[in-house]
Amino acid sequence: MLFNDIIVAPTTPTGGAIAIVRIEGDGAIALCDTLFHPVGSSRPLAEMKGYTMAYGYIMEGTRRIDDVVVSLYRAPHSYTGGDMVEIACHGSAYVVSEIVRLAVEAGARTATAGEFTKRAFLAGKMDLSQAEAVADVIAADSKAALTMADTQLRGAYSAALATLRAELLHLAALLELELDFGEEDVEFANRGELVGLLDKIEGEVVRLKRSFATGNAIKRGVAVAIVGAPNVGKSTLLNHIVGEERAMVSDIAGTTRDTIEESVVIDGVTFRFIDTAGLHTTADRLEAMGIERTHKALSEAQIVVEMFDSVGEDFVNIGEEQKLVRILNKIDLRTATTTLPDGWIAMSAKRGEGVEEFLTALRQMVDTSDVMRGEAVVSNSRHHEALLRAENALQRSREGLNCGLSTDLVAQDVRDVLDAIGTITGEVSSQEILAHVFSKFCIGK
Ligand code: GDP
Repeated sequence: MLFNDIIVAPTTPTGGAIAIVRIEGDGAIALCDTLFHPVGSSRPLAEMKGYTMAYGYIMEGTRRIDDVVVSLYRAPHSYTGGDMVEIACHGSAYVVSEIVRLAVEAGARTATAGEFTKRAFLAGKMDLSQAEAVADVIAADSKAALTMADTQLRGAYSAALATLRAELLHLAALLELELDFGEEDVEFANRGELVGLLDKIEGEVVRLKRSFATGNAIKRGVAVAIVGAPNVGKSTLLNHIVGEERAMVSDIAGTTRDTIEESVVIDGVTFRFIDTAGLHTTADRLEAMGIERTHKALSEAQIVVEMFDSVGEDFVNIGEEQKLVRILNKIDLRTATTTLPDGWIAMSAKRGEGVEEFLTALRQMVDTSDVMRGEAVVSNSRHHEALLRAENALQRSREGLNCGLSTDLVAQDVRDVLDAIGTITGEVSSQEILAHVFSKFCIGK
């Protein structure tokens, strides 16, 4: 048994009709029996098999707290790998706190954030990237985000990394074998083949690293900054997309002084639309602060939407990774038909004309084919950082091999690659890494 204490926590947020309190650890079933009184044909939990349920009351002496259904899991066939009960009670925050109190008085302690999942990881039920995927599944707010988290949870990501690790271990072993022979100047590993293997591994590391831009955008919502001069119709467009009067619309220039953000799901992907203060020079300090935020939103957006009410010349500068859409708004005011340059969309935000075309164009800018095919896509910044470290160490290893660096130094660089990749799945982990990962979880998961 890995853990000798019993933990307890509610696993559901308050406000629902039913709540679930989870008790886990060696002795959790016997502990629960001291609070639980079976009713009807239900038996004490100690006499029940795993994967069964019992109906009864939670009692404190002769005082009945609530009637509940208890689900029973016996080690190792549970989420955490340990003995576990889940008490489904009525969703009153008071009932839940009473059950937790009784469990604590009977010898359990309250679980810390993510502790159930941490136990599952430490018991070998899942690797670290899968544990992180549990949090992503809980937070998923669109089809694409859920598919991506589910792929990671099923271990596709871990599988991709396991292959890389195996190849690297082989490489490190060959190099270390040469070291064992010390003075004898033998080369077990053909240098050309080693470089070829490093190239192949680097190709995969770089592919995963690049997938982060899309993966992270899908997880957090694709940031779309709507920018343009005051009064071109930015807030009108946002209101039309969101379907309510969220941003203040007026014909007084400078109405939007702050950035306003609204999320909308388009064909399985969440987009975060950010309506910004109009870009222009102003003496108003408050408005100037809004414009500063516009520049920030602009630099952080994956897609920049630049809006005009006449074909303007004053274009914004966008980064290499960013995508751009230009809109000519207020076409309802035009009598003559305007031919627009490529990539522009004609719109009347007020009447809703051209908005569908605009949303379709946005959706097409996010390539979800890898995600939907169930391929490993990186969405976690911790993994992204580890891949950057791996790439760095791979480059050092290759340079070392190419310029005849001593075998022990090359072997060390290869070990660094292994180390970086190992932190993703948790083969290499420390208290610090675990604390960082699980602190982001909610209590009860
Ligand atoms: P923002 O400052 O860019 O956010 O502009 P607003 O959305 O506040 O719009 C400024 C003014 O332009 C308002 O009076 C809107 O009603 C008007 N407006 C916005 N879109 C259109 C449009 O497509 N056609 C017409 N005729 N007026 C529009």
